[in-house]
Amino acid sequence: MIGMDKIREAAEEIGGIVHRTPVLTSMRLNELAGNEVYLKGEHLQKTGSFKIRGASNKVLKAVRGGASHVVAASSGNHGQAVAYIAGKSGIQATIVVPEDASPVKISAIEAYGGRVVRCGLTSAERIPEALRIAKESGGVFVPPYDDPDIIAGQGTTGMEIISQVPGCEAIFVPVGGGGLAAGVVCAVKQLNPDILVIGVEPEMADDTRRSLEAGERIAIGPTGTIADGLRTSIPGELTFPILQDHLDLLITVSEKEIAAACTFLFQASKQVVEPSGAVSVAGLLSGKSGIAGRKTAAVLSGGNVSPQGFTEILKA
Ligand SMILES: *Cc1c(COP(=O)(O)O)cnc(C)c1O
Repeated sequence: MIGMDKIREAAEEIGGIVHRTPVLTSMRLNELAGNEVYLKGEHLQKTGSFKIRGASNKVLKAVRGGASHVVAASSGNHGQAVAYIAGKSGIQATIVVPEDASPVKISAIEAYGGRVVRCGLTSAERIPEALRIAKESGGVFVPPYDDPDIIAGQGTTGMEIISQVPGCEAIFVPVGGGGLAAGVVCAVKQLNPDILVIGVEPEMADDTRRSLEAGERIAIGPTGTIADGLRTSIPGELTFPILQDHLDLLITVSEKEIAAACTFLFQASKQVVEPSGAVSVAGLLSGKSGIAGRKTAAVLSGGNVSPQGFTEILKA
């Protein structure tokens, strides 16, 4: 568990950088879900995803410690966030991305002043490369999820939900490497242990579901899920035990359910949410969690999707 002191410190550290994102509602969503639903709009966050929370917490601390170069391995949103906060802090960022990273995410990293290096398809390939570059250049490696400062930063999302949604009874969170879910579950369980925290993964990237069932971290092969922010091959060393001990439930959703959630959010709520950001709503709408009637929040974790990618989803 990451202590509330660390999460509050993170909130203070990043307060001047990140938005306190709005919470959105939709009558049609309430009707369809059978819940009073509050959407935490991290797709409207700086850099287009919640990743700026953890990245800012980590990078601002590194800068204070004298760092002049940071390195990250990322399928996109974490890379954008690190590039943004490094640029803002006047230091250099090198971002290692997968060969198949979306062009919209790569050009955003470059627009923030980050240097992009392409390597492999999985985090298992990218992380050693990023560590090597950091070591050779004397830079600081900024992990995408498996780091106490990153988890604490992501946890500020949970703190905000609690203050923005009084009486909230359940929170749906997407799970990739587990940084967001671990941060949210730490904040929520310390502030109000009665609130259920439900993780949602794509069926095609169900490393956390398998790991929870096995009672240990299980690696899966490369996956092509449309939720490209959730294509992790194994849960984090730090995040997994937190999820194991504190997550109330983990459910999985199909590619069809993810695309349908994106389409629904576009049509009913007028929001552009990327597939990874819509899995929370896909999980809620799947009805697999058995929480009908409860006041519920769902984290829309990001909105970075190309026009082409979004058009394909709407056509599906
Ligand atoms: C990274 C990311 C996630 C998953 O976060 P983890 O901390 O890796 O579990 C979910 N949604 C979006 C949009 C992301 O960029």
